Amino acid sequence: MRGGSVAVVGGSIAGSAFAGAAARLGAERVVVLERSPGHLEDRGVGLCTHNDRFDELVRAGHLDADTRRHRLAVRRWVTRGAAGEGDGPDGCGRLLWAQPFPFHSHHWGVLWQALRERMPERVEFRLGATVTAVGNTRGNDDGPAGGDAPARAWVEAGSGREEYDLVIGSDGYRSVVRAAVCPQAEPAYAGYVCWRGSYDAALLAELPGGAAAWPEEHCITACYPGGQVVIYRIPGVEPGRTQVNWVFYAPTPAWLRLDGPTSIPAGSLSDARLDELRQLAERHLPPYWAGLVTLTPRERTFLQPIYDLAAPRRTAGRLLIGGDAATVVRPHNTSGAVKAMQDAHAFELAGREARSWPELLAAYDRERTAAGRELVELGRTLGRAQVTGAPDWSGMDEPAMTAWWRQQLAGSGGFGGHALDRTG
Ligand SMILES: Cc1cc2nc3c(=O)[nH]c(=O)nc-3n(C[C@H](O)[C@H](O)[C@H](O)COP(=O)(O)OP(=O)(O)OC[C@H]3O[C@@H](n4cnc5c(N)ncnc54)[C@H](O)[C@@H]3O)c2cc1C
Repeated sequence: MRGGSVAVVGGSIAGSAFAGAAARLGAERVVVLERSPGHLEDRGVGLCTHNDRFDELVRAGHLDADTRRHRLAVRRWVTRGAAGEGDGPDGCGRLLWAQPFPFHSHHWGVLWQALRERMPERVEFRLGATVTAVGNTRGNDDGPAGGDAPARAWVEAGSGREEYDLVIGSDGYRSVVRAAVCPQAEPAYAGYVCWRGSYDAALLAELPGGAAAWPEEHCITACYPGGQVVIYRIPGVEPGRTQVNWVFYAPTPAWLRLDGPTSIPAGSLSDARLDELRQLAERHLPPYWAGLVTLTPRERTFLQPIYDLAAPRRTAGRLLIGGDAATVVRPHNTSGAVKAMQDAHAFELAGREARSWPELLAAYDRERTAAGRELVELGRTLGRAQVTGAPDWSGMDEPAMTAWWRQQLAGSGGFGGHALDRTG
């Protein structure tokens, strides 16, 4: 499948990967329409990729091997020591399990920048372009030979309606394109939230024990009744710097309204809300990790509700969805960015084989709808086991933790994302 014009709605991880794939497939015109007015590289949160999944994406041409990232090796599951037992001399808590963790962590902005740098220059990237509606034009997918004009799709983005041979929706969990592809598919609230934060690791010097109490390659999961906080370092935006990144799963705050855009952006949490977070941390976490969370500046603290979504279809006419627009997987899977890039890879592979747009769209839909469903299901299982139905941590030790973990995965093989060879 070569030639044609492609619009990509949303220019984040999925959008950048899809635009690169469309250009490599030989589309004559590729336009990315991104709502944000600029400085996407400053979106400063962390995410992780499994080493094997990252290497596969490098071999498949989506990422550079030298993309700046931070190596993790061990995930230490800890909890508060029982009364009389204490939290250890460093205040890091009682160790439940040191799990091998073959992952790297990334700064979202650094990963995004790496994807953008790989994008061919001829891709037109329009910032500040909010798409308000998309749809299919009437037409005949056999092309002019069938008598009608060929089928196309349109987007509206401020400056009127534009037509393309294909419109790809990579516009995240509240996708405008998904609303046209499968209007009945809506994200479902999982019943808990995550507070999130990040800051320059130099601030750790303010903690008793300083940065030395926390080895660089350790990912920490501090468990408490009703939730957990996952903590790891990520690269800073500037080379040579490191940041602390944490994700604190917790019950729904009484004040949170879930009937509109529901993330509370960095800098917008009031003193009372930040105090609620501080109390949560101090009540439940071993002191070192509570101190690490409460060090976070207001302008680097925010809150996100957790959602599930598996779109029952990914294509309709000349519209296609990928990334979080198609599936929102709970972060416990550590697979969201990999899933987005694998969607783009499946699109590219389907495009190499297909002789027409309808053939490409059908192959992509077959391949990725089922894969997305499996990941969402695994995310639900992990969320139930680790947050809403978590065990009594005081009774857990290494053998109990490994048995509990095996039960959650139950042969799914999808922690960190499925292997790429499943996608073709
Ligand atoms: C707490 C948390 C932790 C996570 N941890 C991990 C992890 O460890 N590992 C991992 O791999 N993944 C993780 N993820 C998931 C990961 O961040 C996403 O799954 C991944 O980045 C794919 O995002 P995307 O590009 O599909 O969508 P998004 O990043 O949501 O991007 C959508 C883009 O579309 C733009 N947009 C939206 N609407 C419009 C419109 N109408 N017009 C134009 N543009 C529009 C937005 O501005 C945005 O740039 C985590 C997610 C959360 C919430």
